[in-house]
Amino acid sequence: MTESERSFSYLAEGVGGFPRRAGIEERFDLFTRYHRDTPGVKFLAGAVSFVRDQLGLDGGDFLYEMCEGILACNYPVPDRMLRVSEKIVKQYIRKEMIGTHPFLGDFDLYAVEGGTAAMTYLFNSMRVNHLLKSGDTIALGMPIFTPYIEIPELKEYHLTELTINADPADGWQYPRKELDKLRDPKVKAFFLVNPSNPPSVRMSDESLNYLASIVKERPDLIVLTDDVYGTFADNFVSLFAMCPKNTILVYSFSKYFGATGWRLGVIATHKSNLFDEMISKLPNAERDDLNHRYASITTEPEKLLFIDRIVADSRTVALNHTSGLSTPKQVQMVLFSLFSLMDSADSYKNAMKRLIRSRKAALYRGMGTAPEPVDSNVVDYYTLLDVEQQSKEVGPDFVKWLLESIQPHELLFRLAEEAGVVLLPGKGFGTRHPSGRVSLANLNEEDYVKIGRCVRNEYLERYRKSGGKLHKDNKK
Ligand SMILES: *Cc1c(COP(=O)(O)O)cnc(C)c1O
Repeated sequence: MTESERSFSYLAEGVGGFPRRAGIEERFDLFTRYHRDTPGVKFLAGAVSFVRDQLGLDGGDFLYEMCEGILACNYPVPDRMLRVSEKIVKQYIRKEMIGTHPFLGDFDLYAVEGGTAAMTYLFNSMRVNHLLKSGDTIALGMPIFTPYIEIPELKEYHLTELTINADPADGWQYPRKELDKLRDPKVKAFFLVNPSNPPSVRMSDESLNYLASIVKERPDLIVLTDDVYGTFADNFVSLFAMCPKNTILVYSFSKYFGATGWRLGVIATHKSNLFDEMISKLPNAERDDLNHRYASITTEPEKLLFIDRIVADSRTVALNHTSGLSTPKQVQMVLFSLFSLMDSADSYKNAMKRLIRSRKAALYRGMGTAPEPVDSNVVDYYTLLDVEQQSKEVGPDFVKWLLESIQPHELLFRLAEEAGVVLLPGKGFGTRHPSGRVSLANLNEEDYVKIGRCVRNEYLERYRKSGGKLHKDNKK
């Protein structure tokens, strides 16, 4: 605000002007020195020196963009993403989604209102640009975040879904036989969530490599990977890093930073990609149509990149000049990214992982059962309570009774009514199976012990009442 008061200032009336670029870095240095002991200032000073010294960007340009962004005195320019902000968030995406995996070339980001907007915009632009047509077959990596099932079924998309099913018995990995379905040229696109939701398991290196080898044979296959949980894993490598030309990456800041209310996400596409190529090869009539569609925003609509088409389509093309994510939100996204980039020891990641693991342990403690064995691909943002698996130690009679006499969703409703515990249906979101998804994201440890206890009591009490015998009853 004081920067705004430097020009065009009628303080008494509360009027300010644009900040001034000249000298902004020096003024910031003075400010941070003077306010050294104010909470947060140390981080800000560190962030500016990180941007300058580690990322090699101009400190003044960065400060000016942040200052203007916070004042929100302009529409976002460029509309896809602010310039310095894009560079910084790209570093974050590079660190978390690509890591040390070899990666040639560069990519573009579009800052959006969370993973939700990313999905909505992508489905729409793929349809409008004829990358997916009504009646096309798309493959979904199952289980999956349900909107990926529901959107393609909507009348305006009318896509045919083919499922690639993960195997719960193999730690929720995709068997080769399932991935082989992608070899069928009829399959136009593959959508997956990695690490998955709800099982919270990332694709194993073996599966990733196998999938990459299929994509090599199918250079026309569109891949969309939603990696919002990738940041909870160590040394995560996205399919975007492995097959950059074919893959659209969706990332959201909601989960890792516990910031669903901010609505922050990005769409990433490689600068040399399948989508631009497909658009350039469309039949003449479709190309002419699209050139006409985008003619109001560029004199060379033919050259408009797919990612910039998504920006335009997000505001029905005609409002392209006022599109883009609000600038204060882009600033917040930059702060999250810098916070993670500056944490070279990954202490935040480790703290997040510890927190989630100890909640999971509490849940199982409450149920009185041992947690599943450790699997390095398990991320644990959610955990699936598969009551069938959990009950095996109670005895085979109990498992039989359970599957026969309990309606899959009955347990979830009773838990909600009687214990005030609301779980989402677990297995595959919709399969007839007594299981529940417990989010380990947001409750206190004690609450997880309680949830565990409720789940256990609910079943065992009813089993006993129906005349069922437990192991220990038999022993007596
Ligand atoms: C939560 C979630 C989203 C939505 O993210 P927002 O950024 O909160 O809109 C998208 N995809 C998956 C897999 C999610 O779990």
